[in-house]
Amino acid sequence: MDHATLRTTPLETFPPPERWDDWEELDAKAWPRRVARRYSLVPTICFNCEAACGLVAYVDKQDGRIQKVEGNPYHPGSRGRNCAKGPATINQVHDPERILYPLKRVGPRGSGRFERTTWDEVLQTLGARIRKAIVEGRKTEVMYHVGRPGHDGYIERVLQAWGVDGHNSHTNVCSAAARLGYTLWSGHDRPSPDYENAKFTLLLSSHLETGHYFNPHAQRIIDGKMKGGKLAVCDIRLSNTASMGDYWLAPRPGTEALMLLGFAHVILRENLTDWTFVRDWVDWRAYQQAKKRGGDFAAFQRDLAADYAFATPTHVAAVCGLDADLVERVGREIGLAGSAFASHIWRNAAAGNEGGWAAARCLQFVSVLVGAVASIGGTAGSGTNKFVPAPFSKPRPQDVWSELLYPREWPLAHHELSFLLPHLLKSGRGRIDTYFTRVYNPVWTNPDGAMWIEALSDEQLVGCHAVLSPTWNETARWADYVLPMGHATERHDLMSQETHAATWIGFRQPVHRVLAERQGKKVTWTWECNPGQVWEEDEFWIALSWHVDPDGSLGIRQHFESPYRKGERITIEEYYRWIFENSVPGLPAAAAKEGQTPLEYMRRHGCFLVQDSVYKTHEAELKPGDYEIDAEHGTVREGGKIVGVYAGGKCRTGFPTQSRKLELYSQTMVDWGWPELSTPVYVKSHVDESRLDRSKNEMVLVGTFRLPTLIHTRSANSKWLTELSNTNPVWMHPGDAARIGVEMGDLLRVSTRIGYYVNAVWVTEGVRPGVVACSHHMGRWTVKGDQVSGNHWQLHDVDLRKVSNTAYLMRRVKPTGAFASADKESEKVWWSSGGVHQNMTFCVQPDPVSGMHCWHQKVVVTKAEPGDRYGDVFVDTAKSMAVFEEWLAKARPAGKYGTGKLRRPQHLKRVCRPSDAAFQL
Ligand code: SF4
Repeated sequence: MDHATLRTTPLETFPPPERWDDWEELDAKAWPRRVARRYSLVPTICFNCEAACGLVAYVDKQDGRIQKVEGNPYHPGSRGRNCAKGPATINQVHDPERILYPLKRVGPRGSGRFERTTWDEVLQTLGARIRKAIVEGRKTEVMYHVGRPGHDGYIERVLQAWGVDGHNSHTNVCSAAARLGYTLWSGHDRPSPDYENAKFTLLLSSHLETGHYFNPHAQRIIDGKMKGGKLAVCDIRLSNTASMGDYWLAPRPGTEALMLLGFAHVILRENLTDWTFVRDWVDWRAYQQAKKRGGDFAAFQRDLAADYAFATPTHVAAVCGLDADLVERVGREIGLAGSAFASHIWRNAAAGNEGGWAAARCLQFVSVLVGAVASIGGTAGSGTNKFVPAPFSKPRPQDVWSELLYPREWPLAHHELSFLLPHLLKSGRGRIDTYFTRVYNPVWTNPDGAMWIEALSDEQLVGCHAVLSPTWNETARWADYVLPMGHATERHDLMSQETHAATWIGFRQPVHRVLAERQGKKVTWTWECNPGQVWEEDEFWIALSWHVDPDGSLGIRQHFESPYRKGERITIEEYYRWIFENSVPGLPAAAAKEGQTPLEYMRRHGCFLVQDSVYKTHEAELKPGDYEIDAEHGTVREGGKIVGVYAGGKCRTGFPTQSRKLELYSQTMVDWGWPELSTPVYVKSHVDESRLDRSKNEMVLVGTFRLPTLIHTRSANSKWLTELSNTNPVWMHPGDAARIGVEMGDLLRVSTRIGYYVNAVWVTEGVRPGVVACSHHMGRWTVKGDQVSGNHWQLHDVDLRKVSNTAYLMRRVKPTGAFASADKESEKVWWSSGGVHQNMTFCVQPDPVSGMHCWHQKVVVTKAEPGDRYGDVFVDTAKSMAVFEEWLAKARPAGKYGTGKLRRPQHLKRVCRPSDAAFQL
């Protein structure tokens, strides 16, 4: 692949790669003088959301300092266009308050006191603990908990080499619900829309296109609009994306699935359905059989329309609080767009509501009806537009199952019940010997953060806690080790994302190490070249695994030995060299064309387009074989098992489902105790209008969005991003403000079931009446007097105290403001707020099917009370446990439900899938 092909939209002034070793340009800061500076340019990958956009670091040849970070125009996903968070990497790198050395706790856990230690001591201590746990058969007591993932499959390999069941993630506070809805249809758990070719795009995405995966999607949505496509955005707020839409849909929170069924109704009624696609690719016979109907396809067509006849625009409008005309118009537009209908749901309704997963399922129903699946301008499954190359060794699956990760009550949970970890620990369901949190800040990010404080404070529940993070976070206060890991320019990772109808890989690189090695310097570990002794996880896990099994007797070491030097520890260079030489189709040839090895090519370019224009992968023909073909039912079997679909006179691969077709009806839901949810339906949310008492000022709080310049917990060490976004007032409609008697800027008390917070009001017509909204990712804090903290661009000093055995009051004692540091700009901070922390006041609400935390909260919103202060947070953890028990009772556990005494259906995905034996109860 040459650069001209990769460069789909040229940025005329960007340095061409052949000049990246020595690039000269004028120093902007020296203006109006013309001062030339010379740079080495090194490509890497952004680490500030999961989209993995390409970046290029400009390293000043004179002082060796990274002067700026810009987008890489040759990156197939981002094409040189980045959001503000990409270039802000430079702030993170030069943050004067960075933690530069590994730290070890002194004094009791939670005292906030740490001292510098060495990487050797860290590796020896943690390696010995993990080895002991493994040798003693405590293989569920080692846990790795990831916030921001940054590498496809790396840690899963490490954990499975150790033989532990210990992968935990943040996914059930993020996307698990939508993933279940998509999985039930196609086996792919995420959508990959082809926005730029869509005639009509419908987004239910409070994060994706306004903050997460932001840039690669946002630029293609606008490309689609520029080509004449239309855009509809469903969001309770007038988000940035909604403001660009042709339609803004703000239904009552929790009714989105019904709105989507309304669109399906219009499409069916108007006969805008692509019946040829449905006939060939949907398992419509299973649907008919489940409803005890016989008949042919024509009968199914009539029956399906009759089944959704109830979802008339009038009915939908009444329940959802929309105009019937709007439902009718959007439904028709989707139908007329046909296979060029692109759609996406992330967070938003899926993450907010009980039954939120059903919104994703109903959205996919609409796509299926119009044949917009993996089509040009339609929506593909994520697995077809993401490429994860295999590493040099694959350990066997572990034989154990941790009920702290996948408790039996949620057998269909798409990911770990991560946010319930403290509740499960405090319920006596297990303990953790060694716990790693990785770029993860559960005390601040998760609901019910005070429960995390209590669990992490208890050394009986968590024996040792190591924080792996590029920056200080609230959770680090309750750690035994704080281990500094690199930013985007300080680490290796390999990533691919479903940004559009193509597959690519992106290579994150430690910039200073790359340059040192180019100059012929010998480097053993990346931390030797990074600021201080900041390391990277890839090498840390190799070194730690070597300490866990130094002599190879546990069978672990073999997975960390070089494929090129028998018996010796693998280097990170060898790890990637093997992947690039053996697992990426087309890369060795492309490299050879430029006279490079595959590794040299990736070091030079930082990305590689594996395949462009990926569409209709389900139509790919099966390899020739001895198949049993049933042309009438459209099935292809091998040894009695369905392996494909017979369509268009050929044996085709179909979708990764049990039927190999799109599953309108789910036997899995029936088998596991949810027969009423076997087909696309609308589930009443926990914040449904019927469950609100408006006479008591009850409202719905939507907290599932963030301002687009925020990076989870890492915005706070970026001065530019904090200057852009430093408050998160409560959005309130003028009608509600008048009812409550507040005006712009007045203080509100927002009371949840377990506590309250105090914040200012922002009165706006950009939110639905009866609903309030508040961005999370703001309100960072540090306990006053702690010896170690950071991020004072945004953090407040707080007094965090217990006001009873179970209740906490957090009150800020110092506003954000100018501070002295090595960066003179810290003395110019003009803002005094860093926002208000709200997540701590949210009770846990695990969806009984998907296990997703249902973020929307039923709240009472009143004027602040006398004595309340801006930023106050109050929580009572006694109430937290009571709410947890209430939601636990809604679940339908494995054992009582399900098949064959299994913990979970074996055909559903599970992170770090254990052996079949471990699935047995
Ligand atoms: S969209 Fe994500 S990956 Fe891309 S520049 Fe922004 S933060 Fe970085």
